[in-house]
Amino acid sequence: MNDRTITDPRTAPRGPGTGPDGAADPAFRARLDGFLTEHRALLDDPRWEDGTPPVPALLAAAGAAGLFRDAWAAGPADRPRALWRAVDLHAALARVGGGAPGAAVLTHLDVATRLLGALPGADRALVDGALAGRTTGALAATEPEHGSDLARLTTRVHRDGDRLAVTGGKWFISNAPFADHLLVLADDQDAATGRPGPALLLVPAGAPGVATTPLDALGHRGLTGQVRLDAAPVSAVLVPGGHGLLVLMRHWLHERVMLAVRMGELADAVLRHAVAAARQRHTFGVPLLGNQHVRFTLARLTAETEEVRAAARQGVRLLAEGSCPAAYAAACKHRAAAVLREVADEALQLAGGDGYRTGHPANRALRDALGLALAGGTDELMLQQIDRG
Ligand SMILES: Cc1cc2nc3c(=O)[nH]c(=O)nc-3n(C[C@H](O)[C@H](O)[C@H](O)COP(=O)(O)OP(=O)(O)OC[C@H]3O[C@@H](n4cnc5c(N)ncnc54)[C@H](O)[C@@H]3O)c2cc1C
Repeated sequence: MNDRTITDPRTAPRGPGTGPDGAADPAFRARLDGFLTEHRALLDDPRWEDGTPPVPALLAAAGAAGLFRDAWAAGPADRPRALWRAVDLHAALARVGGGAPGAAVLTHLDVATRLLGALPGADRALVDGALAGRTTGALAATEPEHGSDLARLTTRVHRDGDRLAVTGGKWFISNAPFADHLLVLADDQDAATGRPGPALLLVPAGAPGVATTPLDALGHRGLTGQVRLDAAPVSAVLVPGGHGLLVLMRHWLHERVMLAVRMGELADAVLRHAVAAARQRHTFGVPLLGNQHVRFTLARLTAETEEVRAAARQGVRLLAEGSCPAAYAAACKHRAAAVLREVADEALQLAGGDGYRTGHPANRALRDALGLALAGGTDELMLQQIDRG
């Protein structure tokens, strides 16, 4: 086992009730296991850590293996099965490549595929491309000036001759460095697409006027980007002015539950790695795990992690029924981010100097946990949502 394979995803316990009715989905799991075996080198590639992650290769491989199509609901009847397959996928990918492949896949599944596919203005060919892993997209909402308060967007959609164009700037956009198209949230002051207010627009990432650069950040290295839009052409109005934020609020409910799923699995993977390492490591003539304090710390973190995993899976059940309250999704995400951070912090301390080394699973998880407390809505915004009910 190397550091990037935190625990073997094929043998790690996958938790109860991962099928639509609490049953397992053996056919999908077999396909997933085959994918993990076949693409082990890609999943453990050092580029996931060094800031040049092989995202397009991963998406192409997963698409060719049919994993995105499996985890995609063509209609409401497929929804529960697709959601539980996505859970299995996130659980497996949290355990490889330091968890980084899972971040790229979550954005691909939830934004480039699920969000885009649910929008009436989206071209079906784009969704087919995403399902095949040939193309991907990124949701560009956050701006350097505004992230939590998206009602005050400075990016604007405007007329440019006889076409629509968008001008402004976005940053921290997941998968933007690899995106073929961007879903840009922009203010439609002049009601060029609908009512005044935020609109969601499709912008080809390679169009003139679009400049994307990877963002150098503490965690999620190479996975997020900064986007400059200078009268960039709008190829489709996905959601007209005045409705953009409402549609995204519904999307974030889903994304927050899935982020909580991923964080719970990441915490579980880091914890298992920590237990195995504490069993091996000897200090003062005894294994680290021989100390009651160490065992109790790990036991407490195990209890908290199981609580997060159970809450997230309940969130998935509610999503499957179409009745997940926004406050519940926010609570799942808030708690998962806190527990992941605590697990990673304790695991790093327990690993001593080795944990402080770049590439150690706890090191990476701690850096990514800080980002996950921001992505998809910050901890404070989650509390605001819980407070509102
Ligand atoms: C790894 C990662 C991936 C991301 N992916 C995407 C993506 O794909 N697409 C995208 O559009 N964005 C993405 N983001 C951006 C993320 O959504 C924003 O960083 C986040 O919403 C916060 O916005 P901000 O950074 O502008 O902070 P601000 O909104 O300026 O907030 C600053 C701080 O103040 C707090 N705060 C704000 N308002 C209040 C209040 N009323 N009461 C108390 N505290 C408050 C916030 O919680 C935060 O701690 C990502 C971020 C990260 C780190």
